[in-house]
This record gives sequence, C-alpha cells and structure tokens, in this order.
Amino acid sequence: MRQPLIAGNWKMNGTRSSAEALMKAVLQGTSAIEKSEIVVCPPFPFLALGEQVLGASAVRLGAQNVCTEASGAYTGEVSAQMLAEFGCHYIICGHSERREHYGETDAIVAKKLALTIDQGMTPILCVGETLEQREQGRMEDVIAGQIDEIINRNTIASFGQLEIAYEPVWAIGTGKTATPAQAQAVHNFIRRRIADHDPAIAAKVRILYGGSMKPGNALELLSQADIDGGLIGGAALVAEDFLAICQAGGTAAG
Ligand code: PEP
Repeated sequence: MRQPLIAGNWKMNGTRSSAEALMKAVLQGTSAIEKSEIVVCPPFPFLALGEQVLGASAVRLGAQNVCTEASGAYTGEVSAQMLAEFGCHYIICGHSERREHYGETDAIVAKKLALTIDQGMTPILCVGETLEQREQGRMEDVIAGQIDEIINRNTIASFGQLEIAYEPVWAIGTGKTATPAQAQAVHNFIRRRIADHDPAIAAKVRILYGGSMKPGNALELLSQADIDGGLIGGAALVAEDFLAICQAGGTAAG
C-alpha cells in the first residue's frame, strides 16, 4: 500500500507574512489528517520560516529547485546541501516550467536528482507531455524518453529513492484537468515502464498527478489505482482547498 503524498508547489507567490499564515493554516488543518503525507514547497527565501513554523510536525518541507552543482562559483544558485540544512525533505526536479522557461534538459534534471539523493532528500521528478505532443500521438514516447533518460544516467535504483509527478503540461495552471481515466492510463504506463527494469521498484514508487487538481476533482483522481497523490499548484495557495485535497487523499487511501 502506497501512502498518498500531497505536495503543494507554491511557485513564486506570496509574501513573508502570507507564507507564514499559509504554513500555519496548513499545519493546523492537517493535524486531523492522518493518512496522507503532506508537503509544502515555498519559495527559497521562506524555507527558514518553514523550518521554524513546521518544526518536527508531520507537514514536511520541500524546495522547488536545486543547483546541478554541489558548491562553488554559481552565482544565484542554491545547493542541495543548503536545502538539506534548512530542513527540506523533498525537492521538485524538472518541473515543466523549469524545462520550458530555463531550458532544463533531462541531463540537467538527472544531475539535480543525484545531488538531492546524495544529500538524503527525496526528489519529486516531474514528467509530462505538451498539448502538441499529445495531439501528435507522441505522449508515450515523450514520457518514456524522460523516464529512460534518468534510468540511463542515474540507474534504475534511483527510482527506489524518488517520487514521480505526472504533470501534463496542458493541464498546469490552465483549469483543464486530465480525466481520471486519462491520468490513470499514463500513470499505469509509467509504472509498467519502470517495471520493465525492476518490478519491485515499480510497485513501490509513488506517482503523483499534477495539473489543476482541485477539491472538486481530487477524490476521483486520487482514487485511481496508480495515482498515489498530487502535486498541487494554484490550489495549494488557498489553505482550505489544499486541506480538502489532503483530506481526499486520506479518503482515497481508505
Ligand atoms: C504545478 O505547477 O505543479 C501544478 C500542478 O499547478 P496547478 O495545480 O496550478 O495546475
């Protein structure tokens, strides 16, 4: 049984005071939620605040990005070791916004994953196709390519130490959600792709869905056999909505 994981990706939103209020609301609201594992990923400057507010609670802290290098002359970058020191458990790697706006390739994502794992944290590896790729019938090839690149560069064993987020790019921040059946089909495809290399790892790895998940559609998505949680953008900025999704994760887990 894979425990649902609900992770909030706050992106570049909020102020110090709104971040503090949101962290406190999530902390308070999740004390009653037992079955989902809950993570918040605020912007870098609010991580220290996150460590302070969340402390040793069940709500875990994550970062949205990490440098490809361990240390040195990389102005403006943040290392995996620094993130570990600030209490991060998770790092989102290869989000489509980073692939699109900052040219992150699979090779770059592979380096980020390795450093995250080396520092004892867990990467959330994002994969997903664009609308154009889906319409051209290339969806499975694109996703298989993203998975295979990591297997080739980091070995299949790294999939025993990470989470995957399937995020169809056309569903992120657009209000368009993959139907539960569409999402389940891709999650199952990803799991089978990993099973070709290692069935035990495939059975264990959590595959989260991301793309306009909201309180109204969360339960149906999270009830699918191969959907093990959610990576939540917009709805993670509203405590009530995020908590409702966390609750849906618990309900789906039974
Ligand atoms: C995301 O950015 O990972 C995401 C899923 O965003 P949204 O929920 O807003 O679509």
